[in-house]
Amino acid sequence: MKLPEKLTKLKAYDPITGSYAVRLDANESFFDLPQVLKAKIADRIEQIPMNRYPDPVATEVVEAFAAYYGVSPDCVTAGNGSDEIITLLLGTFLEKGAKLVTVAPDFSMYGVYAALSEIEVVTLQKQENLQIDMDALIAAAQNAQAVVFSNPCNPTSLGEPREAVIRLIENAPDCLIIVDEAYMDFWDESVMDLVTKYENLIVLRTCSKAIGLAACRMGFAVMDTYKTGLLRAAKSPYNCDAVTQSICATVLRETSILRHCCDEIILQTQRLYAGLCNLQHLYPDLIENVYAPRTNFVFVKTAYAKELFEQLAQRGIAIRCFPNGLRICAGTRREQTLLLSELEQILKPE
Ligand SMILES: *Cc1c(COP(=O)(O)O)cnc(C)c1O
Repeated sequence: MKLPEKLTKLKAYDPITGSYAVRLDANESFFDLPQVLKAKIADRIEQIPMNRYPDPVATEVVEAFAAYYGVSPDCVTAGNGSDEIITLLLGTFLEKGAKLVTVAPDFSMYGVYAALSEIEVVTLQKQENLQIDMDALIAAAQNAQAVVFSNPCNPTSLGEPREAVIRLIENAPDCLIIVDEAYMDFWDESVMDLVTKYENLIVLRTCSKAIGLAACRMGFAVMDTYKTGLLRAAKSPYNCDAVTQSICATVLRETSILRHCCDEIILQTQRLYAGLCNLQHLYPDLIENVYAPRTNFVFVKTAYAKELFEQLAQRGIAIRCFPNGLRICAGTRREQTLLLSELEQILKPE
């Protein structure tokens, strides 16, 4: 039996497995939920009628999300992680053979999901400084049906200012502009408030990063009410389970905890950045560049990525390795101190 090439040629996403004392590889929050909140959640889960299907539009979660971010709940669709939302958007808002513009480096899954929907991907390389050439992207968008990119970006940690994104949206009115704001809680250049102003704008959000619920699988598409209606009709009816809905609604209402955690993560990211800059200063031949982060992780440009990654792994510290650099997620103060001192020992000449 012959299976389609789009399937057999797929390379599976390859997260680190195994057990590490320190995990700084997946851009998760380093805060688990406070015990009191876990107890409250346990209580709520006990009340769920497990024999019943969940709320198909996750009303409670959507309302809590909308209240926290100041958007209308009628513009929000909940999904099983933003990964599900991306698959769905590409598979339903674009036709087979449509052209999608991506940028590189960026989140690798966009290309995978596009390939499965038989969408043609055109990739624009970023500039030497790892920022997007917005004029080139606007030009590419003219004969494409959609553009997707993360802002701020995974893995570079850099962001495109709101004004630049607006310029893209306004100058490509016939092209769907999908802005993946998975890390925008850590920066302040969101365009989410503009989804009712621009018909061609879709913003993606997730509970996996700043909200600290990667275990739960909850992501969101934010766009005008007409398209929201279409996406809700296109999704599978019970895409978000009742347990996840209950947990996410509870946590999204804890706005002061969320803001506190976010501030603390930003603080630790800046501390990590300063520590890595210091190492670059000491070993400029080994570490080429450390980028000022707009996210909860830091990108380090180095020709020795693989060696450094492997040596840290041997010492029980997991980070993410790319061909030309390392992506290191903010951890607790203790975890970062350990990372920086191990890294310095590895870099230090014998
Ligand atoms: C982590 C991440 C997501 C989140 O995906 P979920 O499926 O919601 O966990 C989406 N986009 C980017 C760029 C990410 O880094």
